[in-house]
Amino acid sequence: MSTSPASVFHAAPAFHATVLGSARIGPNRELKKAVESYWGGKIDRDALEKVAADLRAGTWTAQHDAGLDSIPVNTFSFDDHVLDTAAMLGALPPRVSGIADDLDRYFAAARGNDDVAPLEMTKWFDTNYHYLVPEIGPDTVFTLDASKVLGEVAEARALGVPARPVVVGPLTFLLLSKSTGEHDRLLDRVDELVPLYQDLLSQLAAAGVEWVQLDEPALVRDLDDATVTAVEQVYGTLSQAQDRPAILVASYFGNLGPALGALARTGVEGIAVDLVAGDSADIAGLPALADKMIVAGVVDGRNVWRTDLEKALATLATLLGSTGSVVVSSSCSLLHVPYTIEAESGLDESLRTWLAFGTEKVTEIATLSKALRRGRDAVASELDAARVAAEVRASDPRLRNDQVRGMLDSIVGNRTRTPADQRREIQRRHLDLPLLPTTTIGSYPQTTRIRVARAALRKGEIERAEYLQRMRDEIAEVVALQEKLGIDVLVHGEPERNDMVQYFAEQLDGFFATENGWVQSYGSRCVRPPILYGDVARPDAMTVDWITYAQSLSEKPVKGMLTGPVTILAWSFVRDDQPLADTADQIALAIRKETVDLQAAGVRIIQVDEPALRELLPLRASQQAEYLRWAVGAFRLATSGVADSTQIHTHLCYSEFGEVIEAIAELDADVTSIEAARSHMEVLDDLNAVGFDLGVGPGVYDIHSPRVPGADEIAESLREALRAVPAERLWVNPDCGLKTRSTDEVTASLTNLVAAAAKVRSEL
Ligand code: GLN
Ligand code: ZN
Repeated sequence: MSTSPASVFHAAPAFHATVLGSARIGPNRELKKAVESYWGGKIDRDALEKVAADLRAGTWTAQHDAGLDSIPVNTFSFDDHVLDTAAMLGALPPRVSGIADDLDRYFAAARGNDDVAPLEMTKWFDTNYHYLVPEIGPDTVFTLDASKVLGEVAEARALGVPARPVVVGPLTFLLLSKSTGEHDRLLDRVDELVPLYQDLLSQLAAAGVEWVQLDEPALVRDLDDATVTAVEQVYGTLSQAQDRPAILVASYFGNLGPALGALARTGVEGIAVDLVAGDSADIAGLPALADKMIVAGVVDGRNVWRTDLEKALATLATLLGSTGSVVVSSSCSLLHVPYTIEAESGLDESLRTWLAFGTEKVTEIATLSKALRRGRDAVASELDAARVAAEVRASDPRLRNDQVRGMLDSIVGNRTRTPADQRREIQRRHLDLPLLPTTTIGSYPQTTRIRVARAALRKGEIERAEYLQRMRDEIAEVVALQEKLGIDVLVHGEPERNDMVQYFAEQLDGFFATENGWVQSYGSRCVRPPILYGDVARPDAMTVDWITYAQSLSEKPVKGMLTGPVTILAWSFVRDDQPLADTADQIALAIRKETVDLQAAGVRIIQVDEPALRELLPLRASQQAEYLRWAVGAFRLATSGVADSTQIHTHLCYSEFGEVIEAIAELDADVTSIEAARSHMEVLDDLNAVGFDLGVGPGVYDIHSPRVPGADEIAESLREALRAVPAERLWVNPDCGLKTRSTDEVTASLTNLVAAAAKVRSEL
């Protein structure tokens, strides 16, 4: 039996315009700087709290002033909102419980310290944000500490802001956590959480909160029947309480599918749906939604394009007929987009009008909401401006490069190379490498010298020629080091690259690099994804000078080093006016040209990194095959333009391939280096199971740790690998690039790696 939803609805006035969450790093990365100063002991806790409170106040009041009438709070975080939820539920790992200060305890869980390892970090759904994975074990006793959320509510109310606290919901919390005990179906423990959420709701009600938002993005993935049943039970129970705020269950990043029906059958008052990544098809068919408030995510919270207001209004209109009330919103939290276009001075006037960052999206939402309530005439000039901007964008010559399109049409079928075994033989003769060749993944330590030179160039303190010379000196040193260590296949070390995507984006047509478009990636780490707005073309060679310089210093092969099309796509904001697959092919064509130029310049091995191949995998299994088809196709287009004698390498940054394992084989790269140091080479069995028979370099040590691995230990890993892979196919390398390590660590580790390879080679 559930209470009549209407009774609570009366208590909580419906609202009209909102966002599901906000960015928190600060318009000028104030939080990043403050947190890092706090870690470094340069500011105290009070100073840090002050920065945080000012940022919150600034965000809330700006949204309120812009016309939102319900403002999300508790979306602020010193690090990560999943970690905040673990802290709220008494579920920080036991190893930090001895730390007396609550903030230091929190940061220890996030980043570790000399004594404790941090929580694992993983991707937040298919975004480029990373959350901390709570560890739940048999000893975890959940308890509620609502102080953070209550504190933000009080703060917002003091500012006169209509606050709607946001908390990660119990199902998503458990579905994203990791079990440290035997029993790994954590969802079975939801009964322990429900009473705590009931308590939380009643404390919020007592504080005068009218609406609470419980985030359940995990419900847009494929769910088994038991989980759908749990959705109905949990929200059925939570909505039965009398002393509670109205409940908005928020989904984002896709359609709710069967979970929508389950939620509709409970007494929750509102459901947020993502109408950008998902659609409204499910909603229209559900009469049970007739008395629910639908928070319609029509403004894209994950991309940077100006909203097509007419289209959004049409979507909103279809909802009005089938639901209780409609609220205009972002499709997800604004965590994933930069603060404001105002901070970009390098944008041309045309491009500027195509974009909407966080602040501009809030304005769009207010406009749409006004149109819904007062009619189109009330926002006629805004609708006009949006229409004109869309027309200007659609007719911009940069969207179409006929030369690129013509070229693509003529080579789209060319995605295959000669069969791998024939290539192997040709390359064996061409390269003359020993068995178990040693190599590295590409980058060498990003030294202070490199950073100083880059900053000096940016500030105009040194000339470009001076900068180039300094980078060449770095390359010469890295080549000399590898020669001395006795590595077989060398790299140039990537000193000239600020970032493996931005470096290429800056040289390709069709991309715009922002000055201040920072978004949080994890903790205090922010990234500035380039904006891919038009057809991609490569006006000039991008890497040839660097690699040929490095090659001129050694007889041994130096690997050309490129970033693959899928990774460039995944780490950029990408145009939304054509299928991703077409954009991927355009990038692939540019990379393909680069491989051909590298080969012509005498480079014999070319690595095309695809660490993000798995990141873009759709959340729903039914869409994965289609994604993998074009993603693999783009990689193959990028790498099949070279001669059989040119060896193609790729690098993937993970060891559990899961759904992408077969795709790895289909990439058809001559050599694939992967992470394996932490997974005991199990990955080789996974590859064997799908018939993978190409070269493979399972990382023999973990570069994420400062620890120097012993030669015996590496030799043992190699012997283990040889149980799964014949010597003819096995490569010896660390598990990722070395840019975050010190030169001393790298020298010691690689000395041992070379010694281990020699030892195991002698046993063959
Ligand atoms: N070649 C790159 C490097 O070594 C690869 C980085 C990555 O895998 N993310 O740094
Ligand atoms: Zn890597």
